[in-house]
Amino acid sequence: MMQETVSVLGSTGSIGSNTLDVIQRNPERFKVQALTAHRNVSQLVEQCVRHDARLAVIADSSLEKELASALKLAGARAEVMSGEAGLLEAAGGPDTDIVMAAIVGAAGLGSTFEAAHRGKKILLANKESLVIAGEVFIAEARRNNAPVVPVDSEHNAIFQAMPEGFEQGLSERGVEKIILTASGGPFRELPADRFCDVTPEQACNHPNWSMGRKISVDSATLMNKGLEVIEARWLFNADPDQIEVLVHPQSIVHSMVAYLDGSVLAQMGTPDMRTPIAHALAWPGRIEAGVKRLNLAQMNDLSFEKPDLQRFPCLGLAFDAMAVGASAPVTLNAANEIAVAAFLDRKIGFDDIPRLVADVMERIAVSAIENLGDVLQQDRLARLEADQWVKKTYG
Ligand code: NAD
Ligand code: MG
Repeated sequence: MMQETVSVLGSTGSIGSNTLDVIQRNPERFKVQALTAHRNVSQLVEQCVRHDARLAVIADSSLEKELASALKLAGARAEVMSGEAGLLEAAGGPDTDIVMAAIVGAAGLGSTFEAAHRGKKILLANKESLVIAGEVFIAEARRNNAPVVPVDSEHNAIFQAMPEGFEQGLSERGVEKIILTASGGPFRELPADRFCDVTPEQACNHPNWSMGRKISVDSATLMNKGLEVIEARWLFNADPDQIEVLVHPQSIVHSMVAYLDGSVLAQMGTPDMRTPIAHALAWPGRIEAGVKRLNLAQMNDLSFEKPDLQRFPCLGLAFDAMAVGASAPVTLNAANEIAVAAFLDRKIGFDDIPRLVADVMERIAVSAIENLGDVLQQDRLARLEADQWVKKTYG
């Protein structure tokens, strides 16, 4: 079989390093082309040496010289680039077959979109891109025959349980609805009056998954599930009322597809992101991922319950943004990114996150989104408003 080249955008992150682990287990199938990081020069250099990368990109341009000399010192042959131009080259360069889009937040939009523009096979982890630019992004991928395989565990599960032909709506494919499962996060049972005392350390301590800090906080507020509902809408061409969320604390069933005839197909597995990563890398084939096998005989409680929108208002805010459409999800996402960063910096409380997002969504008018420029402009506006909220509230 021919070897395929993979560029990993956000290689120093949780998804990025799990991707490199799966690639390393399958050296006859894949080789690394480009690796990118935000600021972590030493980890990027170490990865470039280990995987013999051809291109190393540091998003923070002020670190380009430091990266170049560190690579030289380490005897690595990778070419060096930086900034958005470097990210675009890593995503769209002619020597890349597969792009793992694993940058966190709206910062990943430009490079993820470039991969679609260049017709690459896209393994999509960067859910924020789909939340803020879903319609434009999917249209660009279709136009350029770029296959989009979701890496988010829920969407990867749905992708596996869903018939192909995403140009058609769900009912044309015999599907009644998508059931997204949620672990419920670390505060599933925490009383509402305790949310104000939650620390960043507690919020980042997820019961079932080990992930980057931003998505860990999103999982604790259930905003992550809200972003995933919007992500599912665009990935699977679903109407808003065809997506349901169920809390499933064991994180064994990764999501489900319910059909018109009453069938419900579920995908199960150990909670380990290497399974969806390996599935997406090898799709439509299958490869070894190094994942612990499920022990079904020991699994006697798989439970499901409705989410509590009272204690987790972020999920409701995301459903609202999806229903409004246009620029509303851009505002939701930008406000949330600012809120989460401020919470991690200990500038605002955990219970301020939904307040900030709700206030910013109320203050910013909804406008049409026709292209990437519209997305970026709305994103900037919402970030300014969210920064103001933090300053006004806490000085
Ligand atoms: P992470 O914080 O561990 O890693 C983020 C990566 O993006 C790092 O390599 C970092 O250097 C890079 N990055 C950060 N800011 C950047 C910027 N401004 N410009 C360029 N690069 C930047 O995050 P993660 O947990 O790996 O998540 C990555 C994406 O995958 C997110 O969108 C997340 O929602 C999604 N995702 C993650 C998981 C998981 O298990 N970690 C599961 C599902 C989806
Ligand atoms: Mg997920």
